[in-house]
Amino acid sequence: MPSQLGIPADELVAWYGRSRRDLPWRGPGVSAWQILVSEFMLQQTPVARVLSIWPDWVRRWPTASATAAASAADVLRAWGKLGYPRRAKRLHECAIVIARDHDDVVPDDVDTLLGLPGVGGYTARAVACFAYRRPVPVVDTNVRRVVARAVHGLADAGAPSAARDHADVAALLPNDEVAPEFSVALMELGATVCTARAPRCGLCPVAACAWRQAAYPPAQGPARRVQAYAGTDRQVRGRLLDVLRDNDSPVTRAELDLAWLTDTQQRDRALDSLLADGLVRPTADGRFALPGEDRPRG
Ligand code: SF4
Repeated sequence: MPSQLGIPADELVAWYGRSRRDLPWRGPGVSAWQILVSEFMLQQTPVARVLSIWPDWVRRWPTASATAAASAADVLRAWGKLGYPRRAKRLHECAIVIARDHDDVVPDDVDTLLGLPGVGGYTARAVACFAYRRPVPVVDTNVRRVVARAVHGLADAGAPSAARDHADVAALLPNDEVAPEFSVALMELGATVCTARAPRCGLCPVAACAWRQAAYPPAQGPARRVQAYAGTDRQVRGRLLDVLRDNDSPVTRAELDLAWLTDTQQRDRALDSLLADGLVRPTADGRFALPGEDRPRG
């Protein structure tokens, strides 16, 4: 049945069929585990960068059990420059739990998915919907923006609220087998047409968009600042991890210190946070290593 609240399902799904990007994790034969891997990688990372890593990753580790059998250090190395490396550690932990407790099969319901390491509300719903065709609301930043504009007539979505955002999208979901396509189409529309800075309304299948009909009233409140990367603790953490990724044995503190000479306090803070996250481990002789490489090899 078509949705009645401003985003007609038939038009949106037909548009998706014509306009969708050919992303490898949407192809035939992609397993639930491989979709879950793509969702871990896509959190906070642009599609183009995930495209450079995901195909090799799933060839190398096609299942949860194959990933679980890899060392945490190898997973961190393969994560490379995707950023936010805690995700790699959590993905490895998630693989171990699925291999050990779920017979190497990714669970298909949101509640069980939510019990896995590193799987939050968005990822649980995305995997249930995209891998298992469950008709659950899947809400990311792009979806929130499309709904704010097309349904509520607002320029942007404001602060997230899981309960309200899920209710908004649940009200839009068609109640038939086309619901998964509707969900992915809504995300795709926000990613490629109804973009934050320059919506391309001439290409949009949502004819009755409330924001367009109201002549695009501007956003209320202060403009959001774009987060810088250069000079941040994130950048320093990345530099320190690069030193360890480039070495297959522990390194000295002096070797690590060379990675960031600009601000020694910031470097110490970044190293402390990596140690606290378990992404870097101290060795018994006072050096530093990736997890699992901090003990002498047998
Ligand atoms: S008509 Fe424009 S603003 Fe409205 S949903 Fe489509 S792209 Fe977004």
